Amino acid sequence: MISENLVEVLKEIPNNVTLVAVSKTKPIEAIEEAYLAGQRHFGENKVQELVAKHEKLPKDINWHLIGHLQTNKVKYVAPFVHLIHAVDSEKLLIEIDKQAHKNNRIIDMLLQFHIAQEDTKFGLSMGECKLLLKNSRSFLNTRIVGVMGMASFVDDEYQIRNEFKTLRNIFNELKSEYFGDVPYFSTISMGMSGDYSLAIEEGSTMVRVGSAIFGTR
Ligand SMILES: *Cc1c(COP(=O)(O)O)cnc(C)c1O
Repeated sequence: MISENLVEVLKEIPNNVTLVAVSKTKPIEAIEEAYLAGQRHFGENKVQELVAKHEKLPKDINWHLIGHLQTNKVKYVAPFVHLIHAVDSEKLLIEIDKQAHKNNRIIDMLLQFHIAQEDTKFGLSMGECKLLLKNSRSFLNTRIVGVMGMASFVDDEYQIRNEFKTLRNIFNELKSEYFGDVPYFSTISMGMSGDYSLAIEEGSTMVRVGSAIFGTR
């Protein structure tokens, strides 16, 4: 089942777009099945679950933390995390840099932007982002490799498309103003089970797909 779903999803995704299989709440066996089918990027939204699964599963899995991260929990994921998707404060950035230094590694992360209409979601505005970037050049153990966002949970395709366009424009603006000389600033993480095809049409380079692969939660 899972491997068939994976094949179906991969058919819709061009080679230059990374598929992060979102395995939150799903058991180890489900991840193993996707792993055996060749999947290597997995996403979790809770630190405790991510750490537990990392311990039990093959070490060549690239683990993505896609959910909100509390500063006091950075230390648990710092030794191994592949990409942190939801950085939205300077305080968090400072802590990730500190923990990355302690682990003698460079941690990649994405700046999360608030693109949805709903005001419950986390994420930066462009103004907040610019303040944060003023100081970020001094961080030696972190790399900002792109942006991440979540569209509104609505049926209106026009609205979703516009929110994805907004994130794409934010990426382009940051690239030209701050990251013109850094080739690794190249990731736009947007698109989930319900909207990843739309997201790809609007320029996504990384989709986070859970239920379309693993079934409903
Ligand atoms: C759960 C989650 C996803 C995947 O959602 P599906 O609709 O199951 O594909 C993607 N991104 C984030 C941040 C999530 O929390």
